[in-house]
Amino acid sequence: MQTVAPSKPATGRAVPPTVKLLINGEFVDSRSTQWRDVVNPATQQVLARVPFATPQELNAAVASAKDAFRTWRKTPIGTRARIFLKYQQLIREHMKELAAILTAEQGKTLPDAEGDIFRGLEVVEHAANIGTLQMGELATNVAGGVDTYTLLQPLGVCAGITPFNFPAMIPLWMFPMAIATGNTFVLKPSEQDPMVTMRLVELALEAGIPRGVLNVVHGGEEVVNGLCDHQDIKAISFVGSTRVGTHVYQRATLAGKRAQCMMGAKNHAVVLPDANKDQTLNNLAGAAFGAAGQRCMAASTAVFVGEAQRWIPELVEKARGLRINAGAEAGTDVGPVVSCAALQRISGLIEKGVAEGAKLELDGRNPKVAGYEKGNFVGPTIFSGVKPGMAIYEQEIFGPVLVILSAATLDEAIDLVNANPNGNGTALFTQSGAAARRFQEDIDVGQVGINVPIPVPVPLFSFTGSRASKLGDLGPYGKQVILFYTQTKTVTQRWFDDAAVSGVNTTISLR
Ligand code: NAD
Repeated sequence: MQTVAPSKPATGRAVPPTVKLLINGEFVDSRSTQWRDVVNPATQQVLARVPFATPQELNAAVASAKDAFRTWRKTPIGTRARIFLKYQQLIREHMKELAAILTAEQGKTLPDAEGDIFRGLEVVEHAANIGTLQMGELATNVAGGVDTYTLLQPLGVCAGITPFNFPAMIPLWMFPMAIATGNTFVLKPSEQDPMVTMRLVELALEAGIPRGVLNVVHGGEEVVNGLCDHQDIKAISFVGSTRVGTHVYQRATLAGKRAQCMMGAKNHAVVLPDANKDQTLNNLAGAAFGAAGQRCMAASTAVFVGEAQRWIPELVEKARGLRINAGAEAGTDVGPVVSCAALQRISGLIEKGVAEGAKLELDGRNPKVAGYEKGNFVGPTIFSGVKPGMAIYEQEIFGPVLVILSAATLDEAIDLVNANPNGNGTALFTQSGAAARRFQEDIDVGQVGINVPIPVPVPLFSFTGSRASKLGDLGPYGKQVILFYTQTKTVTQRWFDDAAVSGVNTTISLR
């Protein structure tokens, strides 16, 4: 792995390796004076140091992408597609290695890390089909001897900014589709866990992505603002919190760019009393506590309707039985949260929930994890009796904490979900087709699951979102992203037949 090369030992002490930038096809050391540690959340071991790129490095990355665009935009579509065919094969071959890097820096379990990579791999497979996706439309004889057709042309340099919680899937949502459609790209991975992203970038170059077509800069607020403001960047794709995404959207669109921002969530799972109880409770426990609740599509909020509230004690027992351990240990259900700061924030919100009068059914704070005493662990935690207005309902906790509300009817539950500012994902558990149809029709949320707790769409469709969970019209993969990464041009053409010369036409109509 050349992107995380060991640093030169200065004093004999082991020095963590540095994460490289990728500029114009070369993995290079940053000249930045600002760095942060990449830390294993189960052990606090410093795995590497990541730079906050300087303005000069950001400009060099964009310049390299701009230069590469001149030839890449005209590279045959089959050549582009074959790179992604090769890339998907390389990702499959390196699955275990990638998952181990991901688990070490992010904390999720090894099987879930493979899931993270696999959901990104599906987008790479889709990018390999670009030949049939980036096709225009044609209508012949729109007027006498006149045909009209559309071209879907790449925009130029595009940029992507990614969050810590899916360091494989979300970068793979972005650069493969942008590059397959003929754009060049500057990626800014999460500074908390950039190492698996860099390994994926190395494999992308090995698959044949040419020099300058893909570039990587690391950093935080300043680098992100630099990308939003840069005049040579045409489009920005962002995934992360609502606070940062709203800022990125406003700043990027003010600078004249296309932008799409997939943001925060408070996903409600609505449980009707006619649901299959065991399936529902198993699904709910997996979706609330898997990945330690750090999924944008985690079922972090449950609404038990009517008699279904009687099932809460059984749910608590299932949650109590989940195994808390380092993600690298076999059989782990719930790994650590990403950082000490995240652990503090989650613990603070649990305290607030108690203070505000919610009933703490299961308290996951301070679990004992043998061999990993320094890890950022918090076990499954469940509150019932939660009401709108409480901090644990209003804020995205982003940890293994499930808050339970109650509703008398399905209508009341739908009103509750629609009154929440977020609209990322939701699920209904029922055996009634009529209730399911009503729910899908009336709920104002982007991803809807019917007896499916985490309804992340496969790349034949597009990820979406409503209200505070998304800004921008088009999604980050699927058919919509082809439109996001291209400019539609219409061509209206006529070839004169010398035999029939027409007179001067001063009207707008085509004849
Ligand atoms: P975050 O918003 O803190 O960070 C996201 C990116 O923004 C990172 O690359 C970070 O470096 C950058 N950033 C952070 N602060 C910034 C600032 N002040 N100005 C400019 N850039 C800044 O998000 P996170 O904690 O890494 O990820 C978790 C969040 O992402 C949760 O809210 C989760 O719901 C959301 N998320 C949403 C989706 C979705 O598809 N809707 C998917 C995954 C995660």
